[in-house]
Amino acid sequence: MKKISITTLGCKTNQFESEAILDQFIKHGYVLCELIENPDIVIINTCCVTNRAEYKSRYAIRRALKNISPGGKVVVAGCYVNKGSSFFEENRKRLLLFQNDQKHEIFHHIEKSEDSPQDFLELSTDSYYLHTRVPVKVQDGCNFFCAYCILPYVRGKPVSRPIRSIIEQVNSLAENGVKEMILTGINLGLYGFDIENFNLLYLLKEIVKTDIKQIRLSSIEPMFFNDEMIDFIASQKKICPHFHIPLQSGSDSVLAKMNRKYSTLEFNKIIQNVKSAIPDAAIGCDVIVGFPDETDEEFGKTYDFIDNLPISYLHVFRYSPRKFTKASEMEWNLSGTVSKKRMQSLQKLGLNKKNEYSKYLIEKKVPLKAVLETKQKEYWTSVSDHYVKIFLKDEYNIAENGMLKNVVAKDFKTDSDGLIAEECSHD
Ligand code: SF4
Repeated sequence: MKKISITTLGCKTNQFESEAILDQFIKHGYVLCELIENPDIVIINTCCVTNRAEYKSRYAIRRALKNISPGGKVVVAGCYVNKGSSFFEENRKRLLLFQNDQKHEIFHHIEKSEDSPQDFLELSTDSYYLHTRVPVKVQDGCNFFCAYCILPYVRGKPVSRPIRSIIEQVNSLAENGVKEMILTGINLGLYGFDIENFNLLYLLKEIVKTDIKQIRLSSIEPMFFNDEMIDFIASQKKICPHFHIPLQSGSDSVLAKMNRKYSTLEFNKIIQNVKSAIPDAAIGCDVIVGFPDETDEEFGKTYDFIDNLPISYLHVFRYSPRKFTKASEMEWNLSGTVSKKRMQSLQKLGLNKKNEYSKYLIEKKVPLKAVLETKQKEYWTSVSDHYVKIFLKDEYNIAENGMLKNVVAKDFKTDSDGLIAEECSHD
């Protein structure tokens, strides 16, 4: 039996695509294994969204080259391949490279299978080997061209997956016992823009009719949260009250330079609207520090703006220039020490926000829903519908991976980053 291992960097769209690629191999008799077990095929699904993502991709490739069985193949796919790198030139003879729009051909190429390869957007799977909460890709590409972002260049223009194919996959996941799906795309809010009379809200309305128990939205750009969308989500118990809404800067001058499509005033209004419709909602933001050439004043505005937002967590990134992008042509003189300090102070602020939100969930006894993922000693861990990590005691070993539990958070877990929860009987 041939062995395969897969490493995925980056976003949920990549995670979905890894599941779909893996499914083709497993259905043809391959077994999933760890890298140290010397696989016959190793797949690295790469990311190039930051310098660090590229570094991690190269690291994973080097590890794969060390561990591959004699005669085995190391496959490198995804955004970093689209971007290109001298690293690939240096290792050209030892790697098989596939761009994003060739991912569906990987199995066919390696096995020279008679099966004709699927259409890219139909790269789908009703199986899941790597996730308990399963990503479902519904959209690819972006044409927003934010000044710092490489994705429009490596993922191409926006395209939506046909609804029939999405619903078939969701039905099949539900039949196979999957409780939570994560709706993903490169710019998810653009879903349906290439289909007449269709959009993300219509898609959500169709998905809630299926038997899937829990639907989570991955990152959505702020301008897609209109009142109709917020009201619908607020009315649906199946949709997690968790929203990841990229902010990127709390300074209007930086937002304009970034070619973002909203002001801080508009962003604040959207967050307030979400919070007033769903008061317990978890809201997370992304922010970039050190965008060329962010001044102390601009950074100060970002800090104060975030400090006043009712959010529950923050992902902080340090700007690094990406090939092809507008920002890579801008003057960029900010010292690494300054941007590091800014990053650290926002990370601290983010941690405070997270703690405040966790405290709120405990004190208000907010009902949570949690799909059990892994067991660590006597605790099951899970990322709950409100996007807090919870630990649920199971000393008698009666729970199972993938079960959906109604719980309530009781306390902080002091030796770890999460909350201790207990089962309860809300619906
Ligand atoms: S919306 Fe902006 S940040 Fe997001 S993928 Fe498109 S260009 Fe990149």
